[in-house]
Amino acid sequence: MLDRLWQILYNEITPKNFIPAGNFDAVTQTTIHHHQDRFKSISTRLKLRVSKRARRMTLRLDPETRAVHLILPPRMNINTAVDFATQNRAWIREKLSELPKPVPFTDGAIIPFIGRDHYLEIISDDARRGTDITVKNRIITVDTSLDNPSMRIERYMRDRIRDELDALARDKATLIRRRVGDVRVRDTKSRWGSCAEDGNLSFCWRLVFAPREVIDYVVAHEVAHLVHFDHSATFWRLCDRLSDDMNYGRDWLKEHGQTLMSYGTV
Ligand SMILES: [Zn+2]
Repeated sequence: MLDRLWQILYNEITPKNFIPAGNFDAVTQTTIHHHQDRFKSISTRLKLRVSKRARRMTLRLDPETRAVHLILPPRMNINTAVDFATQNRAWIREKLSELPKPVPFTDGAIIPFIGRDHYLEIISDDARRGTDITVKNRIITVDTSLDNPSMRIERYMRDRIRDELDALARDKATLIRRRVGDVRVRDTKSRWGSCAEDGNLSFCWRLVFAPREVIDYVVAHEVAHLVHFDHSATFWRLCDRLSDDMNYGRDWLKEHGQTLMSYGTV
């Protein structure tokens, strides 16, 4: 799978010398509610979550929802959590300010769509039934009766990128005489693609906004895993052979991966 994406998609911070603070005034829905003003004054984008598996406090930026999650182990002291968030207020602000500007699906927006910028044209008509989406001459035309067709546009994009990824994966697998199972697109947040041992491949649907070389590289990466289930030197050689431009794809994702999260989000 495409690891390191965790770091690309998420920026996290954890305290250096964390000492569990006992269970007095532990985090619960009640204490979170009781102290919510303190958290809001640090950042209105701060969201608290208690995770049974968490061993320590973590602040994590989610570029898709533009939220900063404060993940807390059970029985963490609420004041310790407030202190931790307060100490990292500058980090929270900085990370949020670094996020690419959101580009919602609105009439006139320029949306990269399978490697090329497209103009989004939304024609609303109460009288019509359903929604029709057509793509021609770099214009995505949405004829719709909906006030906000964003979800419908997203579904269209998911279908189109799935077909694209499916065809690419099968072509590349044929080159190395391997069989691809199902190809699915998901709302994965931690990785761009993954490959199961049964040959099923999953991809993040947001690759629809990426340049073609990037889509190509992510597919090559997962198809190469059909042969090597690791990231050895032999794996990378095969991945390179299956990619149009592996280095460009890798570098682009590292540098610009976060921008894929900014389209269609409000
Ligand atoms: Zn991998």
